[in-house]
Parts: sequence; C-alpha cells; structure tokens
Amino acid sequence: MDTIFHKIIRREIPAEIVYEDEHLVAFRDIGPQAPVHVLFVPKQTIPTLDAAGPEHAELIGRLALAAAEYARREGFAEAGYRVVMNCNGHGGQTVYQLHLHLLAGAQLGHFGAA
Ligand code: 5GP
Repeated sequence: MDTIFHKIIRREIPAEIVYEDEHLVAFRDIGPQAPVHVLFVPKQTIPTLDAAGPEHAELIGRLALAAAEYARREGFAEAGYRVVMNCNGHGGQTVYQLHLHLLAGAQLGHFGAA
C-alpha cells in the first residue's frame, strides 16, 4: 500500500510540513477547504479508519492530540476548529492512508449529506 501521503512522508514529493514526530506528519492540504487546513497522517500504514484496530488506539489518539496542540500553538484553539476523518466512499475518502483533517480560521458551515 503506497499513497501520495507515503511519498510526502518519505520526502519524495513536496509538501508544506508543519509538524513531525516519530509517529506522524502534519502538512497543509493542497486544496484547502478553510483558511487553515492541515492533514495529520500516521507514519504507520493504516488505509482507513475501518481498517484500524485496538492496536492503533494510541496512534489515532496521537493524531487528535497533535491537532489540538497545533491549534493551541497557532492561536486559534479558543476561536474553534473542526477535526474530520473521512472513511471510504460515502465518507468522501480519496487518499487511502488514514488521516485527520484540521479545519479552522473561519466560521465553518454545517456538514453532512449534500
Ligand atoms: P480525503 O478526501 O481522503 O479525506 O482527503 C484527502 C485530502 O488530501 C484532500 O483534502 C486533498 O486535497 C489532499 N491531497 C491530495 N493530494 C495531495 C497532495 O499531493 N498534497 C497535499 N498536501 N494534499 C493532498
């Protein structure tokens, strides 16, 4: 399983990386849906949330906590933000490496079925 996100993690294609540690990488989305749109991606291959198991609980928690920490560091935590994981077709997932979207910087609209 190799995706565009694996290539970004390996530095084979460029991305604006805003955070990295031993577990995950965070970089700006190429097609931002809000003034701030950052993707938090585990280095371990996990195609979808549906493919995750109990052994991934800590790693998935790390994605959420890294996003919260980034929001505090960048100064928009109090104003608010949204985190989203899209899963499979109806969820709108297009890249099959688990990732968490962090959206912020403006009042966000409702979401759900179009
Ligand atoms: P999904 O639709 O799978 O939940 O989210 C995939 C996201 O990856 C999309 O928001 C899309 O804009 C972003 N994306 C796709 N290809 C690239 C890329 O090459 N670089 C970056 N930085 N983001 C990408």
